Amino acid sequence: MNIVFASNNLHKIREINNVLGNSFKLLSLSDINMEEDIPENEPTLEGNALHKARFIHLATGMNVFADDTGLETEALNGEPGVHSARFAGENKDPQANIDKLLSLLEKKTNRKARFRTVIALIFEGKEYLFEGIVNGEIISERRGTSGFGYDPVFVPEGKNSTFAEMDLDEKNKISHRARAFARLKAFLSAYGREEETGSSF
Ligand code: IMP
Repeated sequence: MNIVFASNNLHKIREINNVLGNSFKLLSLSDINMEEDIPENEPTLEGNALHKARFIHLATGMNVFADDTGLETEALNGEPGVHSARFAGENKDPQANIDKLLSLLEKKTNRKARFRTVIALIFEGKEYLFEGIVNGEIISERRGTSGFGYDPVFVPEGKNSTFAEMDLDEKNKISHRARAFARLKAFLSAYGREEETGSSF
């Protein structure tokens, strides 16, 4: 069965293709000739993920899912949150984003933060949301060179390394995105099994 991932991020698409297995053929936006950027102007991660999935579903009628992720800090009332990519400006500069975050947290003793991924799925005409969270804290200086975004300043709970000091496999065992996609996968695999046995979902 075909399912669209409303993304053109090849890295994410490869990652999710691995996770979904054979019952589903994953299509990217470029596979279905939708090259334009879908706006992400909603005030919540849920709103953005749903907006992207609905946009593609309306245009194509296909089964589709979309994701949105944010870094939420307690001391800044959840910021940068839905603004994570553009926290320091429209050019989505990860270094400037980290600089802004560290300077806003400079005098704060509460360094608690979490990454949260929301996936919106439209499947057989119904909408579903899946969430993945990893708790941790923001340290005051950058450590490590792998990963992307805020990885160099985020240490997950129970670990001593930042995400940027971990290799991809280690990060993927506990990451917000991996957890949200595991839930999506469980949902879709259950559907695949129901299909095989012929029972209704
Ligand atoms: P997106 O919704 O996956 O595009 O993520 C929005 C923004 O959140 C990215 O531009 C990054 O700044 C940040 N972000 C998302 N996932 C991660 C991650 O795994 N590590 C670090 N930063 C992330």
